[in-house]
Amino acid sequence: MSSAPERFPAPEPTGDPERNTSLASAAFRGALDVVRSVEPRIAAAIGQELTDQRESLKLIASENYASPATLLAMGNWMSDKYAEGTVGHRFYAGCRNVDTVESVAAEHARALFGADHAYVQPHSGIDANLVAFWSVLAQRVESPALERAGVRGVNDLSEEDWAELRRSLGDQRMLGMSLDAGGHLTHGFRPNISGKMFHQRSYGTDPETGRIDYDAVRAAAREFRPLILIAGYSAYPRLVNFRVMREIADEVGATLMVDMAHFAGLVAGKVLTGEHDPVPFAHIVTTTTHKSLRGPRGGMVLCEESLAEHVDRGCPMVLGGPLPHVMAAKAVALAEARQPAFRTYAQQIVDNARALAEGLTRRGAKLVTGGTDNHLVLLDVSGYGLTGRQAESALLDSGIVTNRNAVPQDPNGAWYTSGIRLGTPALTTRGLGAPELDEVAALIDGVLRGTSPGTTKSGKPSKAQYVLADGLAARTAEQAADLLAKHPLYPGIDLS
Ligand SMILES: *Cc1c(COP(=O)(O)O)cnc(C)c1O
Repeated sequence: MSSAPERFPAPEPTGDPERNTSLASAAFRGALDVVRSVEPRIAAAIGQELTDQRESLKLIASENYASPATLLAMGNWMSDKYAEGTVGHRFYAGCRNVDTVESVAAEHARALFGADHAYVQPHSGIDANLVAFWSVLAQRVESPALERAGVRGVNDLSEEDWAELRRSLGDQRMLGMSLDAGGHLTHGFRPNISGKMFHQRSYGTDPETGRIDYDAVRAAAREFRPLILIAGYSAYPRLVNFRVMREIADEVGATLMVDMAHFAGLVAGKVLTGEHDPVPFAHIVTTTTHKSLRGPRGGMVLCEESLAEHVDRGCPMVLGGPLPHVMAAKAVALAEARQPAFRTYAQQIVDNARALAEGLTRRGAKLVTGGTDNHLVLLDVSGYGLTGRQAESALLDSGIVTNRNAVPQDPNGAWYTSGIRLGTPALTTRGLGAPELDEVAALIDGVLRGTSPGTTKSGKPSKAQYVLADGLAARTAEQAADLLAKHPLYPGIDLS
């Protein structure tokens, strides 16, 4: 994809930040009062969620905290419009304000990522991937079939040609990263619809280094000749060279798709540049908007001009009607991501992940690949004699929220696992810095050292049961709370 010039400057934030906070506080408080008058249990749950988020040391690599402006842009009557179609071409009347919202969001996305085209309707990352898959299938399988038959649309095909096209759509190949190397279920794995749509093979990582072996990817691509080569991950702690991925795709005639759901914030914040920025190299890029990008829960597709017309058919091809209130929030979050402060934030995410990795390593922990270059750390807990499941539970008891994750060639499988995935986007939003991530490393190491595997009812070693040393969980939770108290979440937002 070519780099679009910055045609549209990002608006400067206005108003006094303190006044903005007090207005947001009043807005949330008022909104909850109104909700409470209809269904008090929901108002209570929303309020409790803020308390819970404030009190938990969140290391879930895929979560973050959206800004009050982003949250407020979602909670309103933009939700009431149906707007199937695209800007200026709607199947419903009265969409002028949705048109504004969608075009501003797309404009920010193009300017931020330097993309030819942006489609901001997908409701989630999975939906964005479905849009991308069907866009590539439309471009490379359906369009040529229509041309061969000399017709304009699928409705003009004969029964035989239609049957043939359907067979052909279901007979395509995809090559993506294996799950235990950090790939995602939507990259062609059988439990997901992508695995039912495509013949799939995967590439793993080098058993020695834990890193992508590009020669192995090239060899797999030459042999398998995929229609789509997917790069992108949800649990790989290193950089990916998208220039090389594109060379491999070109060599075998594949479309290069990059799913940057996890690291879009690092691309937006210009931490991942050059060959580590997927946008200039991929034919099509998908992402979520709620992970490191720190926007509302949603998805997005960026693509070359040649795929734009297919991508824009995402709704109603595979998506339900767009969510205008969420597109409004995407526009706000993308405007925020274009501010210089977001670059500082993105760099701090990576600095914090490195501090966490170094802190763990220094205390004797084993990390997959030995460290990190991005926002996440994959801790192999087998050195502590634990499964990922035991480690996750013991940490949760101690006020530290993580998630278990398979490590490459995991002997404990995808359910119990041998790893814990740790990410820094959320804590970085709260304002924690590198020295504090070292303290977090100490807390994690302390809990895991003080945890031993339990036994099953029949006295065998359990993969799920565990025993924490006396008082350790409470002591750690107190230390975690002290750390968090220095960096309040949503400071100034008061619901009482
Ligand atoms: C999180 C993630 C998704 C799915 O995003 P949802 O919004 O949960 O649908 C897809 N791909 C990758 C690589 C992810 O990390």
